[in-house]
Amino acid sequence: MTLISGSILSYSTSLPIIFLFLSATMLPLIAKAFWIQEPELNALGLMLVIVFLLLSGLIPRQNRLLIENIVLRLENEHQSLTDPLTELGNRRRLSVLLETLLPSSLRNQDPFSVILLDIDNFKLYNDEFGHSAGDDLLITISEILKDCSRDQDLVVRYGGEEFLLVLPSTGLDAAVILFERIRSAVKLKTPVTFSAGIATHTEDLTFDQLVEKADQCLYLAKAEGRDRYVLAD
Ligand code: GH3
Ligand code: MG
Ligand code: MG
Repeated sequence: MTLISGSILSYSTSLPIIFLFLSATMLPLIAKAFWIQEPELNALGLMLVIVFLLLSGLIPRQNRLLIENIVLRLENEHQSLTDPLTELGNRRRLSVLLETLLPSSLRNQDPFSVILLDIDNFKLYNDEFGHSAGDDLLITISEILKDCSRDQDLVVRYGGEEFLLVLPSTGLDAAVILFERIRSAVKLKTPVTFSAGIATHTEDLTFDQLVEKADQCLYLAKAEGRDRYVLAD
């Protein structure tokens, strides 16, 4: 009985269940202790009432601590996967996605694409408007990237002013359509442009090699005059 009580009180997070358990086990004992007209039993009944009240008082506190603990752990987990400025995923979040995306993409012959984006002449923007305005621009662009992409896409802040979009079940054509949607939104809402390299995963590539390919395309897009994308062949 003691072991079961301990387990229920320690592990159950449901207040009604704990309260029900305490009531079901202790109230009959208390009633019996008072029913029999023996001073010792009546004293025992009184003690049980006090214990019952004490335990009932402890439950809400224990529940609150448990819930606070769970919330704290979830917050920590979220923070360790998130870029603090833009609230986008970080590289660790990317590794978590890749653990499932790579095997499922290969198993189902379902290719995914990546878009590596880099803001054009961002240094000039910072120099002209200040670092804090630069930060605001990064936040605005991050929101646009999130708004334009689907729920299953992952948007990662890959470097200072560089973003990586990972697009499951997406070929090159669909990736280009997404790029154009982002480009229109960025033109509408900000004074900057950006360049991109776009590549689709194939069986012979590791993820790092895929991003390397996209990076080479991005480099070409910059060299060809910026505000454009280059596709990997
Ligand atoms: P390019 O078109 O060739 O990409 O030129 P660029 O000026 O965008 O690229 P460059 O690599 O010369 O400069 C990147 C700038 O991005 C410099 C750096 O200060 C700025 N930057 C990186 N991270 C942040 C950030 O978190 N906040 C702000 N405000 N600026 C940042
Ligand atoms: Mg740049
Ligand atoms: Mg850059």
